[in-house]
Amino acid sequence: HLKAANGYAALNSDFDNFYVRRLKLRIDDCFARPITGVPGRYVTLMDRKTDDFNEHYQFTGTYTETLNMSSYNYLGFAQSEGPCADAVEETIKKYGISASSPRADAGTSDLCLEVEDRIAKFIGKPAAMVFSMGFSTNATSFPALVGKGSLIISDELNHASIRIGARLSGAMITSFKHNDMHDLEKKLREVISQGQPRTHRPWKKILVVVEGLYSMEGTMCDLPGILLLKKKYKYNLFVDEAHSIGALGPRGRGVCDYFGIDPAEIDILMGTLTKSFGANGGYVCAEKHIIDKLRSTNAATLYGESPTPPVLTQILSALKIIDGELKPGQGEERLQRIAFNSRYLRLGLKRLGFIVYGHDDSPIIPIMLYNPAKMPAFSHEMLRRKISVVIVGYPATPLISSRARFCVSAAHNKDDMDRLLSACDEIGNVLQLKFSTGVAGGA
Ligand code: PMP
Repeated sequence: HLKAANGYAALNSDFDNFYVRRLKLRIDDCFARPITGVPGRYVTLMDRKTDDFNEHYQFTGTYTETLNMSSYNYLGFAQSEGPCADAVEETIKKYGISASSPRADAGTSDLCLEVEDRIAKFIGKPAAMVFSMGFSTNATSFPALVGKGSLIISDELNHASIRIGARLSGAMITSFKHNDMHDLEKKLREVISQGQPRTHRPWKKILVVVEGLYSMEGTMCDLPGILLLKKKYKYNLFVDEAHSIGALGPRGRGVCDYFGIDPAEIDILMGTLTKSFGANGGYVCAEKHIIDKLRSTNAATLYGESPTPPVLTQILSALKIIDGELKPGQGEERLQRIAFNSRYLRLGLKRLGFIVYGHDDSPIIPIMLYNPAKMPAFSHEMLRRKISVVIVGYPATPLISSRARFCVSAAHNKDDMDRLLSACDEIGNVLQLKFSTGVAGGA
């Protein structure tokens, strides 16, 4: 069936690969249930009719409420009630649902301007621009920042949206080993001087690109190390804070806040609004002249729909709560809760003997399953205990580095973490997932 009638290769012919097909079935065998409500502390799943995963999904007519460890709802703003939802409702009454136009045409509302102003202040940069999609923020910003004759040096584990944007830009691309400052310096020496004195720079611009927090590893970028090299080798720096904004730092301002670094030291601070703010879209923060250029050359906002009014209000309300302007004290409490839950769960998993990847303060907590065959078993056992988790495998990870990933939220409490730990303990014994002898002390 992989050959079309006309004799050409069928459009799905590259699917005829043992690993791709088998692994797709394995992934389908995991979570793979539509959700029917808010992806908050709990999430309701539609049950499947069959456990034969070669079959297409069939709804049984029943639902299961599960403890949700799978959504990027870091600060618990994915809600259908409360101050954000009330403000969104008001906005829908006033503005409707859609902007019905790109920014440059008729899509710039007063809400867009208010959100951009607030995001710039929140991040600590002179200007900001919002996009209707996080993915396209990256995919279309790189071509607006660098081009032919420039060089992008990218962490090898950077997100697909960064890799696609980098390719679209036409710049030369090289990568360095994940979060490895020695390798970054080695690459810089190779590409900057190319055997000539270090003052000779064969590139128009050099842009180093990293993420604040890596969503498959839970690692935090070594920002102090990257900035030391920036001083020495004089490059521009782009940090994608999709997973770190809101989720890290005492004031929820991401990696700069976490390390006590002035955001002025970073050229571009990009982030998404999908995760910590319970909304949708992305932003780029930078000097005003860079944002001006981005505004006039970025394809996604020139030719694509503006962020919608309810989404903009959700972002605005979430930022006001984090800043203590709305519901004073609630923002601080959310930040403290995510920080506590992240450390508590990580330490508990290590004590049980799991191999846990990532930084001690990361709310993304991957435990290693290694063998892809254990992915569906782990997922099923969790679902049996009414817990939703995301299982990650090839091609998002190397073939034998399959893992289960828990996303901690401020919507969770200590009892939720204990419930998850006891489920992991039982499943870990059955599936032989406790590879280490556990830690006695700190996480
Ligand atoms: N950057 C990173 C690092 C991401 O992980 C993601 C998606 N998870 C994106 C960008 C794209 O964001 P969105 O899902 O909001 O489109």
